[in-house]
Amino acid sequence: MAQLIDGKAVAREIREQVRNEAAEFHARHGRAPGLATVLVGSDPASATYVRSKRRACAEVGIASFPFELPEETTMRELLGLVDELNRREDVHGILVQLPLPSHLSAQTVIAALDPRKDVDGLHPVNQGKLLQGVPGLRPCTPLGVMELLARTGVPLAGAPAVVVGRSTLVGKPTALLLLECHATVTLCHSRTRDLASVVRSAEVLVVAAGRPGLVRGDWVRTGAVVIDVGINRLPSGELIGDVDFHTASARAAWITPVPGGVGPMTVAMLLRNTVQAARWIVEGQA
Ligand code: NAD
Repeated sequence: MAQLIDGKAVAREIREQVRNEAAEFHARHGRAPGLATVLVGSDPASATYVRSKRRACAEVGIASFPFELPEETTMRELLGLVDELNRREDVHGILVQLPLPSHLSAQTVIAALDPRKDVDGLHPVNQGKLLQGVPGLRPCTPLGVMELLARTGVPLAGAPAVVVGRSTLVGKPTALLLLECHATVTLCHSRTRDLASVVRSAEVLVVAAGRPGLVRGDWVRTGAVVIDVGINRLPSGELIGDVDFHTASARAAWITPVPGGVGPMTVAMLLRNTVQAARWIVEGQA
């Protein structure tokens, strides 16, 4: 029976570290690290996410600068705000909550961010740094996945690792981070042939497909580490992952639950990125 990787507990520990680092930064520089959060429109899920990020900032001593713009905000207005935030000295991180309303281009807005303040790690400069394996801000969910893998103590160097899902937000950057740790990475997607047999080869398996129960227990290699990034809400209201938890945990050595696995890590890594960005901006490097 697999051991559970407790994302909530790891996230709590990271928040505690970030609280100390934010306090040190404040003591050295006379101001707290600052995160601006930009929410456009009234999508209820986005509003919930952004509020939880603001609350988390307050808990660890990061100054939070909330901006809520109406649905009909124009590209020009949004870029104007980004420009203002790029220049502010008290703002070290800028988070634009996605998805944006359909008349706005997320790609254009992200490209307009000062890459040093791009705490979501989505700016082309930061993605380029990830590709090159040089220091830079990395996307939060993939960082959370790597932190959970590190906690298992399972060596990644040389290990066959399979990532299911190739999104810019999760799958692709996770594959690159695994590669940086010298895993032998296979990146799968909706057109992969015989997904089951590729998944069976994985000692380290990360699934981010957004398909409830896609990976069945009998696809999981005995003794594998399984990180389930998927968050799917069933009509009953229940949240489940992309991996069939019960059957997979009979074969895996380690597995994340959903909820309580990768989910809490994303916000914790956003907080860590904000303190990192503040240090790099004020103290130099990267
Ligand atoms: P996405 O829709 O952008 O990408 C999904 C990827 O999965 C695509 O590359 C697609 O090719 C692949 N895929 C889809 N169906 C497949 C199939 N049948 N077989 C193989 N590959 C398949 O989604 P995303 O933004 O990467 O998110 C993936 C999941 O992770 C979602 O459930 C999302 O809610 C969750 N998520 C969780 C967190 C977190 O904090 N835990 C953060 C981001 C996303």
